[in-house]
Amino acid sequence: MATHTLIPFPDELLAAKKQIREQARTYGLDFFNVIFEMCDYEQMNQLASYGGFPQRYPHWRWGMEYERLRKQHFYGLGRIYEMVINNDPCYAYLQESNALVDQKLVIAHVYGHSDFFKNNLWFSKTNRKMMDEMANHSTHVRKHVEKHGQDAVEKFMDICLSLEHLIDPLSMFLKRGDNDSAHQEPKREEPAAKFKAKDYLDRWINPPEKLEAQAKKDREEKAKFRHATPARPTRDVLLYLLQHARLEDWQMDCLSIVREESYYFAPQGMTKVMNEGWASYWHSTLMTKHFVDAKEIIDYADHHSGTVHMPPGNFNPYKIGIELFRDIEDRWNKGKFGKEYEEAQNLGEKKHWDKGLGLGREKIFEVRRVYNDVNFIDEFLTPEFIEKHKFYQYGRDPHTGQLRILSRDPVRIKQTLLYQLTNMGQPFIYVADGNYCNRHELYLAHQHNGMDIEVKYAIETLKNLWRIWQRPVHLQAKIDDDMILFSYDGVQARQQAIHDDLPKAAHQVG
Ligand SMILES: [Zn+2]
Repeated sequence: MATHTLIPFPDELLAAKKQIREQARTYGLDFFNVIFEMCDYEQMNQLASYGGFPQRYPHWRWGMEYERLRKQHFYGLGRIYEMVINNDPCYAYLQESNALVDQKLVIAHVYGHSDFFKNNLWFSKTNRKMMDEMANHSTHVRKHVEKHGQDAVEKFMDICLSLEHLIDPLSMFLKRGDNDSAHQEPKREEPAAKFKAKDYLDRWINPPEKLEAQAKKDREEKAKFRHATPARPTRDVLLYLLQHARLEDWQMDCLSIVREESYYFAPQGMTKVMNEGWASYWHSTLMTKHFVDAKEIIDYADHHSGTVHMPPGNFNPYKIGIELFRDIEDRWNKGKFGKEYEEAQNLGEKKHWDKGLGLGREKIFEVRRVYNDVNFIDEFLTPEFIEKHKFYQYGRDPHTGQLRILSRDPVRIKQTLLYQLTNMGQPFIYVADGNYCNRHELYLAHQHNGMDIEVKYAIETLKNLWRIWQRPVHLQAKIDDDMILFSYDGVQARQQAIHDDLPKAAHQVG
């Protein structure tokens, strides 16, 4: 467990922190109060391995992470650490041995993050007292360890952690109703087979007897699944397990801790590009305009460019994020958006377009409030931007090993990036049936969004699920255009092509 005695702040740094905070406010940044703590290198590593939280539940993964971090610098700013916790107040850590110019850079950067945490929509449902909550989780798990033994608890936590991504981050924002309210009256709907027709043609195009037959078929289909569980496919697999798996109380507690922490971290995964871009935009603006003196300027330039350097073929969220915010600001300052601009044919005219609107600042504050990485990239990554920053797709030539450009096609480049960012690169998996074949078997389905699931991942997931569900588990996935059903019954993993004779799950996901 990370314990540390705080190292006092030097006066010079204290004064700088105050000035940066005030300056950031005059630009309109609106952040949680930030508590900065000074740490030495070892403390910094140790905190980083716990994700910045001084108290977390005991688990071997933290030890592993600690060792890994000791060997390599991890947190984005190259050789400078930044670590900031989404909490009210925010906590941030400064490494004692950093030069003053680096400390100032990190402080400015952290205020950017704190503003983002506080104002970005996707963070609005996160627990702002997570520091306390993590400490609670730690206490709970320690109690379970005392009672049930380190081995049993750690093994069970391993299983839960291997499934931690099986949540539905969007469910925080949508009220879909209770998944088990299967007995609601179905809404009266127009028969699905009805063709659109003008009134006087209607009875010729849609003969009543045909419509009635179709409606009857629909009713029968619905009746078959009236008692389906879940009532509709659900992506919050962990919640479904909590509600329906036969777990002991301490196991439920562990699983719900993992689920809660997973939801807490999800918005950080959904906004990595924006959040880092925003923080970098502000550290860069504040530093270059206000807080670098003549003797620091070279160091600063060097360290800042270390942050946002992007060699061809590497994906650096800081670089893409900051450049996109700058680009949006420039476009909205000049009025380079909207129908008239889009439809301008003359390239020269577009390039020199400037309506002098001055809406840039306002626009980037709005963007940081409502977007996440996926719609941020989708909306603002323009072909002009890709061209200007040479943001192409690169790959190694299999023969020469040389890096070369694979594609300059803006549509393809954007699509690839969106695949990587959608659901943070995790597959979309739904519970399609919790009582498959009426035998209390669990049937999950992978929703194919352009990328196949890995077979190894599918089987590992099933094995871990089985240890929670304790009955046969299945996962349906499309692999190379074939629909495959992976199954695990506690002894053997099997896979088979899905064919018509195979019993169907309560819900179709595909
Ligand atoms: Zn950052």
